[in-house]
Amino acid sequence: MSRTLSQNWRRASISLDEDALRHNLATVRACAPGSQVMAVIKADGYGHGMLRVAELLDEADSFAVAMTDEALALRQAGCDKDIVVLHGFDSEDELTLYSEHRLQTVVHQIRQLEILQQHSLPAPVDVWLKVDTGMHRLGVSMAQSQAMIDALQACENVASVAVMSHFANADEPSNSLNNNQIDNIVKVKTYSGLRCSMANSAAILKLPMSHFDVVRPGIMLYGSSPFAEVSADALGLRPVMQFESRLIAIKPVSAGEAIGYGSTYTPATDIIMGIVAVGYGDGYPRHATSGTPVWLNGNECVLIGRVSMDSLCIDITAITAQIGDRVVLWGRELSVDRVAQSSATIAYEILCSAGAATGADRAG
Ligand SMILES: *Cc1c(COP(=O)(O)O)cnc(C)c1O
Repeated sequence: MSRTLSQNWRRASISLDEDALRHNLATVRACAPGSQVMAVIKADGYGHGMLRVAELLDEADSFAVAMTDEALALRQAGCDKDIVVLHGFDSEDELTLYSEHRLQTVVHQIRQLEILQQHSLPAPVDVWLKVDTGMHRLGVSMAQSQAMIDALQACENVASVAVMSHFANADEPSNSLNNNQIDNIVKVKTYSGLRCSMANSAAILKLPMSHFDVVRPGIMLYGSSPFAEVSADALGLRPVMQFESRLIAIKPVSAGEAIGYGSTYTPATDIIMGIVAVGYGDGYPRHATSGTPVWLNGNECVLIGRVSMDSLCIDITAITAQIGDRVVLWGRELSVDRVAQSSATIAYEILCSAGAATGADRAG
């Protein structure tokens, strides 16, 4: 079932396919049957609206967000699941909130261990130690990891310790760094005996050796493929975000008349142009190139010229259309991955941008 949140039909709107979200979670479970699922709902649920996504993903074992604020918003909304904050705390006051609201923290640097050791808390907190196994972003080094685990386990403010790491190149399953990273986490798991979590969507789909105790799907829950060369459809994923607008004008353009800002597109023959009420102000990618697919009345047509703030132009010469017709920018009829590919970006960014600009939750 799909529920439309924004009813204003003259502007861009986002609706969510709730069944698709649940279906994609079931796909995660089928891919990683032996693992718990920590659903990643940071960045406002990849633009889909964090609170709604959390409600719909009731079957997940736990949630991950990037920041403390997001976790507190979930608690305030009544979410009582385990919540892991990927950046963790950075002060005593912040840490106290973790204790009071039963939030699980990632510890990725020694500074956080020191805060844990130096203060007393109402109740001990669950900790995920983030180990840098090769991505070289957040995380303690392999060399530090054993001492960190020992120190955390000895700390009276720590209720439990688990280990997590993150892949740099899981979207390229044959990249040799993937196996190095898995070997590293196996080492940590072997000497510590702790629960481990490593796999993001790409690894859930293509690196079963990395599933361990808990998997952390993000993008696949929302129905987009983490791989440039494999479609979401081929992976059994269904798009969750439906991003639509309307045709607000139709007009002929003669051969040789350049269209839009910068006059970047000039039709070689006479065409019929449609103008759609959506632009980069609504989160449609400004870098989408002429030729980017757009769906209208059962057909794919193409974007022509530059995307403006609140409108874009499409070639509808071959399509029967009327002003007011529904236009799908991405969703069931057209994968967001294809729009991302002709916009020199990834679906992650486009979904977040559209969500932030147009707001899946705004009209709900
Ligand atoms: C965002 C994130 C994920 C989810 O990644 P996807 O590629 O969207 O599946 C998992 N783990 C961490 C640490 C993340 O930051």
